Amino acid sequence: MRSIPLAHRVSGFGTSIFTEITALAIRHSAINLGQGFPDFASPDFVKQAAADAIRADMNQYAPASGLPQLRQAIAAQWERDYGHAPDWEHEVTVTSGATEALCDAILGLCNPGDKLIVFEPAYDAYVADLTMAGAEPIFVRLYPPLYESGAWSFDEGELEQAFAQQPKAILINTPHNPTGKVFTTSELELIAHLCREHNVLAITDEVYDRIVFDLASHVPLATLPGMWDRTLTINSMGKTFSVTGWKVGYAIGPQPLIHAVRQAHQWVTFATATPFQQAAAQAIAHSGEAGYYTQLVADYAERRAMLQASLAQAGLPALPTEGSFFTCVDIGSLGVMDANAFCYRLITEAGVAAIPISAFYREPEAAPALVRFCFAKTHETLAAAGERLAKFRI
Ligand code: PMP
Ligand code: GLN
Repeated sequence: MRSIPLAHRVSGFGTSIFTEITALAIRHSAINLGQGFPDFASPDFVKQAAADAIRADMNQYAPASGLPQLRQAIAAQWERDYGHAPDWEHEVTVTSGATEALCDAILGLCNPGDKLIVFEPAYDAYVADLTMAGAEPIFVRLYPPLYESGAWSFDEGELEQAFAQQPKAILINTPHNPTGKVFTTSELELIAHLCREHNVLAITDEVYDRIVFDLASHVPLATLPGMWDRTLTINSMGKTFSVTGWKVGYAIGPQPLIHAVRQAHQWVTFATATPFQQAAAQAIAHSGEAGYYTQLVADYAERRAMLQASLAQAGLPALPTEGSFFTCVDIGSLGVMDANAFCYRLITEAGVAAIPISAFYREPEAAPALVRFCFAKTHETLAAAGERLAKFRI
């Protein structure tokens, strides 16, 4: 076939690390603790709601901004949790996953040349979205904890310097993929203060907001004083209800920011799958009352403990996970500096797949030697992975 030159906005893209590692895992029959998705069933009440919606012929286009009942459920949940009632008609939009909401937000708000602050390591879609919009990241480093009970942190001076470069917005992901960091209230207060002082918008990716452990607690930046008017909060059904394949996400924020999302959304996908939106509305409405979120955390705490025990037994030092369903292993502390080569060996020799966190850095060479493991897996999967890891010679 004649080679077709790619558009500049995509020509620098490689294949996503998740696609690459999952393909390699399949080829070598490895247990996939790489790509972040649950390998267990979604809750029955959620599946039933989707099946009922399809049977009830909710199979045509939804309104572009989302089914009213889903937007109402999202707004009611926000009010219940944070004491402020968003206007469901103008301040909530449903998208095809958080991925689409992030892309819409950036396409809807950023002009070529605009700058956005992004903490690094960064979920890989952020820089790709900025690139497609012609916008530029200003990276601020997150530093790994220096001791086992510590947390990832950033340098206040480095953040202030980033704000001094006249960014349009800051992008925050809490709980954070890939580190498992949950931003503290005082860190968020500092970010909020800098946003107000420099008149900067915030886009927050909170897809792991319900998976937070121990003493950590999730605080949406939008709930801090003066932040509602300048913050877009993005979330998704994927992790919370173990339905990553449904791709139902949403954005919440003040009308002007939601308008920006909608301007892009109406031409990117126009609308999101109707029966899954109906099921999402029922899932959200039901969950607050039924103790679903408490059980979700308890289940994930068990899975985290299982993975961490297996890693410890295999001599792989795990960093703490405050939230999300990922744990990073510090292979650098074992003198292993090439995380890519390590992951390749882990797949081919141990039969377990994990992700080198260099994939979340613009300059992979500058990344710490860490490897991310996903524990959104059944006890059987985690036990089998533990057995394989125990036999692996580092
Ligand atoms: N943001 C983060 C931090 C993620 O980890 C993911 C997916 N795992 C997404 C966004 C994408 O969410 P969705 O599947 O709803 O598009
Ligand atoms: N967000 C998931 C992860 O971090 C994967 C998403 C994807 O495959 N695009 O592993």
